[in-house]
Amino acid sequence: MTESLEQYLDQQIADLKEQGIFRTFRILEGRQQARARIDGKEVINLSSNNYLGLATHSQLCAAAIQAISDLGVGSGAVRTIIGTMTIHEELERRLAAFKRTEASLVLQSGFTANAAVIGPLLADADLVISDALNHASIIDGIRLTKASRRVYAHNDMAALEQVLQETQGTFAKTLIVTDGVFSMDGDIAPLDRIADLAEHYGAITMVDDAHASGVLGDHGSGTVSHYGLYGRWDIQVGTLSKAIGAVGGYVACSHKLRLLMEHRARPLLFSTSHPPSVTASCIAALDLLERAEGQALIDQLWENTRFFKAGLEGLGFNTGISQTPITPVIVGDGARSMQFSDRLFAAGVFAQGIAYPTVARDKGRVRTIVTAGHTHEDLAEALNVFESVGRAMELI
Ligand code: PMP
Repeated sequence: MTESLEQYLDQQIADLKEQGIFRTFRILEGRQQARARIDGKEVINLSSNNYLGLATHSQLCAAAIQAISDLGVGSGAVRTIIGTMTIHEELERRLAAFKRTEASLVLQSGFTANAAVIGPLLADADLVISDALNHASIIDGIRLTKASRRVYAHNDMAALEQVLQETQGTFAKTLIVTDGVFSMDGDIAPLDRIADLAEHYGAITMVDDAHASGVLGDHGSGTVSHYGLYGRWDIQVGTLSKAIGAVGGYVACSHKLRLLMEHRARPLLFSTSHPPSVTASCIAALDLLERAEGQALIDQLWENTRFFKAGLEGLGFNTGISQTPITPVIVGDGARSMQFSDRLFAAGVFAQGIAYPTVARDKGRVRTIVTAGHTHEDLAEALNVFESVGRAMELI
């Protein structure tokens, strides 16, 4: 290896170790489910985004197998050349109906969906106003533009209004962008109040509903539905990788914005479209969400959420401001958060430790996510483990 590269890598790795946040990947042996075999150990899995258990659902698997047998394993081109199949267009019609928008456009991931829409939307003379805790993919999407940028304190509507006031009349367009459900804290953005401010100041609205789709709103259709904002919200980004169970992202929006993205969205123009099997699984997921079976899974998810959250709070843990199935257990110090996660794992529970730079230095935590697939027995057992490890570490 080139000497300068080796020195650089050694230094970076030593820094991570010194900060106590160096880690290796945990390996899932077998299926993504509530009780899973991870690194050779049977544990209760509280770290998956497979909210409804669809990642292993038989109907989604059958749809993928059928699509492989009918259409093969790859699409063979980018969308704009000859990588747009009938099945891709069908999924986009279904997603637009799910989100009650005129159109939608599917990208390879939720991460690329944010870059795909923000890039074409913003020019040099524009402003983007972004919540301080927005997801990394929104931040990177913004970095790819030359627009001016301002950040408002997390969910702070007075701070957002102040920026809108200060910048009124200065920029050609203003975009307000927020996560729908924040992935580290599990709280919900006040979209209703953002919509009021946006209407007052003539700003464009965009939400990233990665953790809300399949979780909140009518049949899991997300935060715009949750707040009843149909017709008052411009852009809904979603992911197909969490509650929907497969992989991918999408932008649900107007016909005209989709047309612009067809010409300008770089992840669409320069990267191959989804294999048909992925697309078929996503259509099967939407079929399921429309039926009573989907609603039953969402109801189970929320029942499990209430039970587990109440259990953690009852034990005296600091669970922050969560309103959703994502419940952090806030420890503070990053290294201690990682230790907490390791000790939980040794005792049979996998809850990912999260430290700086993913969260602020003093906001280290383990993050728990319950799914519809957990039984009460799983969650009660996990609470017992949290109690014994929490007491041993003097967190409660
Ligand atoms: N946005 C948010 C808020 C997310 O939490 C994530 C996933 N971590 C993404 C976007 C990216 O989605 P995907 O995994 O589909 O790329």
